[in-house]
Amino acid sequence: MKHLLRRGAILVSTLAASAAMAAPPHEHGVARLDVAVEPGRITLMLEMPLDTLVGFERAPRNDAERAAARTALARLADAAKLWRPDPAAGCGPAQAEIDGGPLAPGHAHGADHDHAHGDDGHADADASYTLECAAAERAAFVDTGLLESFPRLRIVHVQVATPKGQWKAMLSRPMTRLPLVR
Ligand SMILES: [Zn+2]
Repeated sequence: MKHLLRRGAILVSTLAASAAMAAPPHEHGVARLDVAVEPGRITLMLEMPLDTLVGFERAPRNDAERAAARTALARLADAAKLWRPDPAAGCGPAQAEIDGGPLAPGHAHGADHDHAHGDDGHADADASYTLECAAAERAAFVDTGLLESFPRLRIVHVQVATPKGQWKAMLSRPMTRLPLVR
């Protein structure tokens, strides 16, 4: 639990900093993924424009949109399909935490989800995945079903942090493998 709290604090300060800098609106079809490899654990934090998930960036307004939101959130929560780590790392099943913002059932336009609403009318979904691994540092890759699960997704900008260094990477079709070593 301790590590979750610590990561949460870092995430909040990062978001506050980017808001202060008036970051440009996200680009539709483009997601951001932060991957951290630590002893015993791999975490993946995903930020995706709602447009890329469901084609709109507000609460669903009719049955078809509610169905699209349910499907998208279920796909986001399907950690086993989205993330298949190198078997050498000995990881257990991934735990998913999804913040669908306005897509979430019962979503209220309150302070809780302010981070998911841009002033510019854009909105993102956030998802984080935690894999507990016997030997996380041995993971040479994570295979991902992201581009398969989300047809509107074209590009994933990836930031990888491991005990051996940090670097940026990019995923696009037909890539399904994210290397965790350089
Ligand atoms: Zn948008």
